[in-house]
Amino acid sequence: MTNQLILNEPIAAGLDVIGDRWTLLILREAFYGATRFEQFCHRVSISRATLTRRLNALIEKEILYRAPTKASSKRFEYKFTQRGLSLMSSSLLALQWEADWRQNNDRQHNVAQRLYHRVCGERLAPKPVCRACDTLVAFNDVSWLDMSEQLDNQLDTIRASNAKHRKRVVKSGKDEPDTDPGLASMVGDRWTILILIACFFGARKFDAFINQLNIPSSVLAERLKLLAEAKVLRRDPYQNNPVRYEYHLTDKGKSLFPFIMSLRQWVVENMLEASQVNNRLVHNPCGNPLTLDVVCAGCGQKPWPQDIEWKR
Ligand SMILES: [Zn+2]
Ligand SMILES: [Zn+2]
Repeated sequence: MTNQLILNEPIAAGLDVIGDRWTLLILREAFYGATRFEQFCHRVSISRATLTRRLNALIEKEILYRAPTKASSKRFEYKFTQRGLSLMSSSLLALQWEADWRQNNDRQHNVAQRLYHRVCGERLAPKPVCRACDTLVAFNDVSWLDMSEQLDNQLDTIRASNAKHRKRVVKSGKDEPDTDPGLASMVGDRWTILILIACFFGARKFDAFINQLNIPSSVLAERLKLLAEAKVLRRDPYQNNPVRYEYHLTDKGKSLFPFIMSLRQWVVENMLEASQVNNRLVHNPCGNPLTLDVVCAGCGQKPWPQDIEWKR
């Protein structure tokens, strides 16, 4: 039973909105200050047609809105709604993770090192904390409660939602950024994020991922290979003849936990009806259901885009 828990996870539904690598790159540039179509086009190196589609989808989901610029009523800029602003926590954690694990650590390329929090004047290091007890949330401090009796209904819903994606994902490939080395290019699709969530909650073997996620085996094989190449997962043989592997999170993989949990938190708070939320994640040190907040490590306040300063 426990190996099917992941299917019950509400994040699967919300990932339709943000679980796409182009969308993660667009949102990241928006948090860095891009507002104009041409700026996104240039900074993300994305085709105009793809950019138009992704921006329209973000407007439709009320993450961005479009408004005339001050200078001209014929020109437009894209700005965050309140719902969009609350994605900044995830974006900060992504940035910090990239900085922690990147090879080339010079300051010019390390965006996280140039980010300051105006409220306290410190470098803005994002710290994931439990809302109930205000302490740091780490990978080993969270457990997953047993599921509810409505499980079967919810499983069906998520299986159906994943089934819808099987065709679309398999034939994608052309329409993807090619050279971005960051997190978005590695985890920027719903399957990869779901695979990581399954890993966080104990999936190790190929069949376990298949059972939990209703994922096509070719897509699973490809994503596991990518995650192993990125050293997020380690592949250990557990059987010979034929050889079969187990997949284990490396330290680099475990350190993605706050980022993935904050994406999940955003989905829970913004994309689901109260009745769909089934909070079964527990923060062990305090025993409360886990609600993740991201605060500035220097002062403990929640950072907002207007409080962020860039230094060269
Ligand atoms: Zn707690
Ligand atoms: Zn601060």
